[in-house]
Amino acid sequence: MKHGSQINWQAGRGSPLAVLKQWLKDKGWAIVQPWVWAVQNSFFRLDLRRPGNDFVSHLQHQLRMGWRWFNYGLFLNQERHDNHELNGSVEDFLTWDFDGMRNQLQVGPAYRTLLLGAARSPACFHSHANFDTTCIWDGCDELGHWDHIAWTCPYRPSSLTCCDHMSRRFGWWKVGDTMECADWLSKVVSRIWETRYPKGVG
Ligand SMILES: [Zn+2]
Repeated sequence: MKHGSQINWQAGRGSPLAVLKQWLKDKGWAIVQPWVWAVQNSFFRLDLRRPGNDFVSHLQHQLRMGWRWFNYGLFLNQERHDNHELNGSVEDFLTWDFDGMRNQLQVGPAYRTLLLGAARSPACFHSHANFDTTCIWDGCDELGHWDHIAWTCPYRPSSLTCCDHMSRRFGWWKVGDTMECADWLSKVVSRIWETRYPKGVG
């Protein structure tokens, strides 16, 4: 594809180029002009007209960022109770410290679960008789939904506050910010696991 201009842009069905066009379309990329794609409302561009040795890594970066942008847009538009509180816009997307977060994924499973949006509060398990749904902190018998256990329970061993919804829910931080929310929430995740899967049981 590096020498894109030598390939017929109007390649027919079943050709590698047609497959690529469809694949990009499915991932949110729209054609701006022949050999140039962009994700709607984003700054990310795939420009296959450019020659040069740094070209492939540049394109890979654009492709990754466009994919994240596309999914963030889908996330913001889905009907989940998480979303109604977010007030997010796709423009916020550029402010998140994805490089820092990617590094933090290596630190341990609690960070990975948190930052990738896979953390499940005790209250999520209300339809599973096997799991306790109450708060994770000693002395509290409230229903353990995420906001309660992480941010409002008076028994939690932290006085940290946070008003950004993405930080409150996923621990995400912005470029230049501290990651104290992520540190705290990774402890919350570890504590959830301790109470959900006590040692010596199961
Ligand atoms: Zn509580």
